[in-house]
Parts: sequence; C-alpha cells; structure tokens
Amino acid sequence: MGMTPLSSPKNPSPLSPSVQERRMEDPSMYHSLTTARSPLFKSSSWQLLTDQGRVFPLRAGGRILELIYSSKQFKTKGGLTAGTATTHYYASEEFKTKQKCTESFTCSPLEVISEGDYKQSTYCHLLLGLYFCDQVDFVTSAFAYSMVHVFTAFEGLWEEICHDIRQGSLSNSRVTSPRMRRAVLEHLSPNPSLALKIESKCRELQRLDWCCTIPELWPNAKYIYSIMTGSMQPYLKKLRHYAGELPLVCADYGSTESWIGVNLDPYAPPQTVTFTVIPTLAYFEFIPLVNSQHKRPTDDVIDLDYQEDEPLPLSQVKLGQQYELVLTTYTGLYRYRLGDVVEVASFYKGAPQLTFVCRRKLILTINIDKNTEKDLQLAVERSSQLLVQCRAELVDFTSHADTSKHPGHYVIYWEIKVKDGDEIRDRVLQECCREMDAAFADYGYVVSRRTNSIGPLELRLVKDGTFGNILEHYISNGATMSQYKTPRCTNNPVLLRILDHNTVKHFWSTAYG
Ligand code: AMP
Repeated sequence: MGMTPLSSPKNPSPLSPSVQERRMEDPSMYHSLTTARSPLFKSSSWQLLTDQGRVFPLRAGGRILELIYSSKQFKTKGGLTAGTATTHYYASEEFKTKQKCTESFTCSPLEVISEGDYKQSTYCHLLLGLYFCDQVDFVTSAFAYSMVHVFTAFEGLWEEICHDIRQGSLSNSRVTSPRMRRAVLEHLSPNPSLALKIESKCRELQRLDWCCTIPELWPNAKYIYSIMTGSMQPYLKKLRHYAGELPLVCADYGSTESWIGVNLDPYAPPQTVTFTVIPTLAYFEFIPLVNSQHKRPTDDVIDLDYQEDEPLPLSQVKLGQQYELVLTTYTGLYRYRLGDVVEVASFYKGAPQLTFVCRRKLILTINIDKNTEKDLQLAVERSSQLLVQCRAELVDFTSHADTSKHPGHYVIYWEIKVKDGDEIRDRVLQECCREMDAAFADYGYVVSRRTNSIGPLELRLVKDGTFGNILEHYISNGATMSQYKTPRCTNNPVLLRILDHNTVKHFWSTAYG
C-alpha cells in the first residue's frame, strides 16, 4: 500500500466522520457508532478447547450468566441502522446461532438484554442467573467493569432477588418495563427451597465481605470470561475477590471498528496474555513508535508524544517493538488509526502476538511532562496499596490536569469504599497522595516537579456513588453499559462539576518538599 496519509484524529478520513470524531473526544463519552454487521464481542460463544477437545463447559445444554446490555439502535439519514457494536451483535441472528451451535444458552431472554435500561437489566440478569444457578457453566461480560459493577450491585439486591425466587415474582419497583417483565415472568415459578439456599449463602457471604461470591452462588461455573487487560486492569483485584480461584480468562482483543486478535492461551493470566492477530479480519498496518523520552533521556526538549516511523505491514513487524495499530476494514474505514499502543510479544505461525500497552493519547500533560493512561494506572495502583492499612479499597479513579492557576498541577479523584465501622484516616490518604506523586516516573514530570513548574499533586476524595453518577451521565448520553470505560482523564466541564461537587477532602503531595 502506498503512503497515502493515514486517517487519524489530526487527519480525518472522509469515509468515517462519526467514528473519527468519537476518537477525537474522550473515548468513553460517546457510544460507539457503527453501521457494520460487527463480528465484535463474541465472548459468550467462547469455549476452552485443547487438542483433546473441549475442556469446559463439559456439557451441552448448560447456561451462561451473560452480563450484557444493548443500547438503542437508530437510523442514519442514509437509512442505515446505527448503534453500538455490541447492540448490533446481540440483535443479530449470529448471536442466536452461536447459542444453538455451542449448546450453551444465555440465562436472560433478549428482552432483558435489549431494553436499554441497565439497572432493570442487571436485576433480571441476576434473578435469572440465580434461578438457573446450577446450570451456569461460566460468567461473562464484554468488559470487566460491568461484571464488577453487577456483583457490587448484588450486595444490595440479594434480599429482593431471593424474595422473587421464593414467590416466582418480579419486583415491581426494580423492573417496570412491561416487555421485560413478561419475558422474565415466563421463565419463573415459585422456588422456596432455592430461595432459602441462596439466602443462607448470601448471609454467609456478607460476613466474608462477598469474597468468592461467584463460585459460592454458581457452583458449576468453571471460569470468568471478559476483557480484563488495558483500562480494565484496575478492576481485576475486585473481580478476583468475587471469583475466588476460578480462572479469569481474558477475552480477545477487538474494537467497534474491527476485531483484531484472539487469546490462544486461555490459561494465561491477564498480566501475560497476548492476542494473536488474525490477518484476514482487516488489513492491518503498524506504526513503529519510539518513546522519545526513553530514547533521549537527557535532552532538554522532550516531544509530547512518541516518535513515529513509516507504517509497516503485518509481515514486517519486529519482536519487542511497540506500534500503533492502523486498520483498513471491510466496512469502509481506510487506514484508520485506532489509537491503541501494542507490543509484539511473540509470533504464532508468523502472525504477531500482541500485548496491549495502552491508549496512545497522553492523558496528563501540563508542560514537558507526558503521562499515559498506563502511567496513571501504575501510580494509582502503587499508592492505593496503602489503603489496606485502614481496610479501605479504591472503587474507581480519574484525573485532570489543572492549568487554571500557575503552576498547573495534576488532580486525581478517588472514590474509596471503607469496611463497616472503619474510617479512612487522613494520615493514610496524605501518604497515598505523596506516594502517587512520587510514582510518576516520567522524566519531564520529575524535572518539572523539582523546579516547581508543576505544582504538588492533589488527591481529591469523592463521595460514595460519584463514579456511579458519571456512569449515569454517559448512559443518559447514549453510551452502553456493555462497552463503558471510566474516563481516566477529563476536561469535560459536566464531569468536573460532578467530581468537584462530590469532593469531600483534598490532600496535597509533599513528595518534592
Ligand atoms: P470500543 O471503543 O468500545 O469499541 O472498545 C475498543 C477499545 O477497547 C480498543 O480500542 C481498546 O482500547 C480496548 N480493548 C478492546 N479489547 C481489549 C483487550 N483485550 N485488552 C485491552 N483493551 C482492549
């Protein structure tokens, strides 16, 4: 392919304005528009296979607790159906065929998946999942975020769910959609003994802070399947807490724009998983990236981004090199820059096996500093470990580069859950703040902090439920729960208003004196 300019946020392709525009903005703000018959998120069709055959599910006719959600589809001016990738897939014939072929059936009827109200759908997913609990072979969601969200919601819903199982009823206050009610009630009949069994397990689980909820309540579940890498990595700890020792199987690598690669080693833990590119899914090109800061650590001037070389075809990528992926798809995207940074970890029969590194966009930058989502993730992970001292855990986080005053500084927002009766001690949070500031290892940041051209990092503690409000904001703007990703950095005034309105405490770092 000649060196036609690549389509990118800076250089948008005329063929795909809506998708391009979406990438220019905060990536999780908008639902993913596509008119493709997308092959995306075939997660639930996934089964563990070895050379000897199926490992699990071991039986035909089992069920899948599939925590999935569609959003509304609509018609473009040209008459094409548009909506999120997952919405297309769950509405497709392929979704039904997959269930028939694998003889594994999702617990919830389509009416539950497609209603477009994630709270009502969540209640029904859990109710039906528990009603069929002995038949469930595995638990899945598109991204790990929604799975953690569902099991956290369950901690407050279980009594009502048990009541409904006992009576064969459906809570009028939780589920109001007539269509969803009809479809769910068709499956239910009173089951007092099951309700009693689940209730007593839940009481015990409550005492154990809901550790091992999934294997306890779904005793025949063999694994958890979801996207757990990249921006989902911060939810892994909580997922592990709910999953006990069940294998956490990383779902494949794909996007609304095109499916990319598959996980050939289901037993690989999320930390080491690679995705083998399937060369025929799209035409793939790879822009070699050199982290300019690493290349020239003593330079005074540091580029605000990676240095790029000419794009290479799939056959020419090199082991250990990082690239930005470029897609030319069957559905009309031409040399579309996906914005993901990947690294070639190995090859399988000549096809590169990629590790997902991060989204390419720098998210925190004030002057010569440059920090990616991964840098933020590492700093937050390191500092939040101190929370164990007061039996607290990080629920979610985001950030903002505040340049409204000189010098500018990083603001990191944390929502924290504290165990009953405990308090978060200010001393611990002050220490977390210091540790987080010191954990940003980027050379530009360290120099700027030392010379005070970037001010002390600020940690803002937000009220319980703040990140739930942010989720609500996106969902009400058309995002889908299935593909939701908490924005890790924001300049969005609405979001900043929500965050600042809910801030209860501030801490300033003392890391640089
Ligand atoms: P969406 O924009 O909702 O279509 O989601 C696609 C994006 O999710 C990709 O561009 C990646 O940034 C991310 N993603 C998808 N699959 C994975 C994966 N297996 N590991 C890490 N990130 C992923």
